[in-house]
Amino acid sequence: MDTVQCPHCKAEGTPHLLRYEPFLSYIRHTKMQHICRICGEVMYETGGRFNFMAYILLLLAGDFFLQVGNEAWHNAWWWKILLPVLSFSLIGLFLYKFVRFIISLFR
Ligand SMILES: [Zn+2]
Repeated sequence: MDTVQCPHCKAEGTPHLLRYEPFLSYIRHTKMQHICRICGEVMYETGGRFNFMAYILLLLAGDFFLQVGNEAWHNAWWWKILLPVLSFSLIGLFLYKFVRFIISLFR
């Protein structure tokens, strides 16, 4: 195992990992706090990058805000396929997350 020096107490050791859901967790990876086993301070954090959902949302938002009235894009065959596929997969994922949330309330 890798040992890391704690920036707070300068002790060497393997950090304790705490996973948590960051702000805007739908479109971000899970964040991980690396906590010092000696003093309990957060040594550093990893994760929290934007996931593929963020890029799909960005594409859809970009289409909505920038390409309104752009016939060249909207008449392209690939966009007529891509737009419903992305939209429905997005709605499907939110529904899936919502149903799982509802189920978790009754457990
Ligand atoms: Zn420490």
